Amino acid sequence: MMNKFSFYSLLVSFSLLFISACSEHSDTNDIKPSTATYLGNEAIMIEHSGVKVLFDPFFHNTFTIYQAVPENIRTALFTNQAPYDAIDYIFISHAHADHFSSGDLAKFLRHFPDTTLIAPKQAIDALIDLEDAQDIKSQMRAIELAYKDEPFSETLDNIKFDAVRIPHAGWPERAGIANLVFRVTLNNEITVVHMGDADPNDEHFKPLIAHWDKQSTNTAFPPYWFMTSQSGQLILKERIKAKENIGVHVPIAVPQDLIASKERYFSTPGEKTQLQ
Ligand SMILES: [Zn+2]
Repeated sequence: MMNKFSFYSLLVSFSLLFISACSEHSDTNDIKPSTATYLGNEAIMIEHSGVKVLFDPFFHNTFTIYQAVPENIRTALFTNQAPYDAIDYIFISHAHADHFSSGDLAKFLRHFPDTTLIAPKQAIDALIDLEDAQDIKSQMRAIELAYKDEPFSETLDNIKFDAVRIPHAGWPERAGIANLVFRVTLNNEITVVHMGDADPNDEHFKPLIAHWDKQSTNTAFPPYWFMTSQSGQLILKERIKAKENIGVHVPIAVPQDLIASKERYFSTPGEKTQLQ
């Protein structure tokens, strides 16, 4: 028969077990998942274990076709309001007006001296020129790559990134615009690929097989025309081989062939997904 003492000690051990189970549960809840948040056109925020990265966040020309970044998100970025606060890195794919605003970038870097901008040299040169931005030059990393150059690679404290120059869509037209496909690994754990306005022709991707195979990718963000063309699909499946693809640069009036493709895409600013 159980005496009073052993009954209470049993009760205490059960309660302790229960408390520890609960605290373990809240611990797992405390670990923030890795997320991608859509801001507009090709603007994306990636967050992983305290590191925050923006791609193509500031622009003013949508050609009245593409999704602008809404004012409330822009304001949150410039006033450091969660979840759009504490941005560590900004990547720019290319210096076109639906991806890049030199004025906004200069303003942002002056406001946030801990933020680093990584962009094609072409974009950085324009920014320094247009915004008389010598004072913030130390916050910038300029990448100069010609078509068919070896991939560029660099590691900063909590990220590793590489870049290849893939011509702008419509190639060989607009061959002069430096479009970079970035692959960024955060804290050695999560890897994303942002493609800018890459041309969906395997001629550009096939010679880089060793580069694509060097690092596995969690999520790639191709412009949606990769999803609606056969060669684009082949590049995503055979070259980049991300676990998941999410289309961006989607017109506000979502194209029928994109809907029919059943592929995933971002089209509503503020929508957020957990990275796999
Ligand atoms: Zn472009």
